[in-house]
Amino acid sequence: MTVLDEKLHDIYDAVLRRDPAETEFHQAVYEVLSSLGPVVAKHPRYTDTEVIRRMCEPERQIIFRVPWVDDTGAVHINRGFRVEFNSALGPHKGGLRFHPSVNLGIVKFLGFEQTFKNALTGMPIGGGKGGSDFDPKGRSDAEVMRFCQSFMTELYRHIGEYTDVPAGDIGVGSREIGYLFGQYKRITNRYESGVITGKRPTWGGSQVRTEATGYGTVFFIDEILKSANQSFEGKKVVVSGSGNVAIYAIEKIHQLGGIVIACSDSTGYVLDPKGIEIELLKDIKEVRRARIAAYAEARGGEARFISDRSVWEVPCDIAIPSATQNELNGADAATLIDGGCRIVAEGANMPCTPDAVRRFTEAGVVFAPGKAVNAGGVATSALEMQQNASRDSWSFEYTEQRLAGIMRRIHDSCLATADEYGVPGDYVAGANIAGFIHVADAMLALGLI
Ligand code: NDP
Repeated sequence: MTVLDEKLHDIYDAVLRRDPAETEFHQAVYEVLSSLGPVVAKHPRYTDTEVIRRMCEPERQIIFRVPWVDDTGAVHINRGFRVEFNSALGPHKGGLRFHPSVNLGIVKFLGFEQTFKNALTGMPIGGGKGGSDFDPKGRSDAEVMRFCQSFMTELYRHIGEYTDVPAGDIGVGSREIGYLFGQYKRITNRYESGVITGKRPTWGGSQVRTEATGYGTVFFIDEILKSANQSFEGKKVVVSGSGNVAIYAIEKIHQLGGIVIACSDSTGYVLDPKGIEIELLKDIKEVRRARIAAYAEARGGEARFISDRSVWEVPCDIAIPSATQNELNGADAATLIDGGCRIVAEGANMPCTPDAVRRFTEAGVVFAPGKAVNAGGVATSALEMQQNASRDSWSFEYTEQRLAGIMRRIHDSCLATADEYGVPGDYVAGANIAGFIHVADAMLALGLI
């Protein structure tokens, strides 16, 4: 682990003391603080004003009961969360996650990351995150709808286009966004499109929002490749997960001439040496909502399903972890390095453990962190808010161009910031420092907040 600057020890210790059980939150805070040594050395104002300590404490945390009834009439109680982390740059903005693993520590880690990610986009959005320990897997449409309605029956009081604007994340796609917005509209009697993003383009959503995180991830990697005079052409890529981020990352890689030979879900992975057939994957995951084994069965030929094994055992040039936090550990990193992997870019939020990141760095593998790489999703959400505010809707081509431009700027700002602070080529430091300075300067300008 990188050692923290002396001035930051006390801040980190206070985070550990105050919320001892929130390990993912500790990890995310440590990761950012470990980049800030050169910043606090150069600019004492950040420690003198305690702005870093303030940033580690969310502005507001909401926890609520979500009662709902399943198709058999049985009553279930889930727990709902919304953590409004920081609104110095704009209304809180960040997704909702529905997954049984969701707890306050996970939501806080995601909200903390989101604050810096949103700042990196250069758009006027603060950070937040929310969700529930509800498991949508195996639930009927009607059950998912009743859950979403109950969740929004509490959440609606806390959100608004100038306050807090949720979106999707794991387990929350356009179906759930529709049910959530429908309930918000019923309760408030307002068609307030800008209150939530990830809507379908037919009723207020933006073109490219569905594709944005995956496409943006690939645009970012393309910039890494271009800066080394390379391209995706002929590169073998492994992507973990087979959800929203993974599917559209795979689609864009194939458009740019790369070949994705493996992807996964929580049951195992599929290896398809000829390249993942994207329309088949979409049908299985987005339409049928089936397990990844169904892909290999339907595809036939050389495609194989390997159960309960890590997708990181497949040798590749580029790895894109796009499933969940801490899914790629030190041993996986060693396997990837031995297999010849040269670039690792996080499509998911914090999917690589600190040990994995250390190994990549020591081996000279280019490592790009989620808060920069996957920022295309939230950036396109901000474009959705912009279209909603002006009651406009842009074409797919125009929106995709805007996304590509934003990802190029994020990439360049990470590199320029890393150079400025004496760590050239370090995307982690570049992203953390650039995001931090943007948020910190806004907080200082707004007085003691
Ligand atoms: P989805 O729910 O669409 O897909 C998640 C995928 O990851 C599924 O294939 C799922 O498999 C797998 N997965 C989830 N949890 C686990 C686990 N504990 N172990 C193994 N596999 C798991 O989510 P998204 O694609 O939207 O999100 C993926 C990641 O990207 C998350 O970290 C999210 O925070 C991040 N992200 C998403 C953005 C977006 O716009 N959607 C924006 C920025 C970041 P299974 O179905 O078997 O659970």
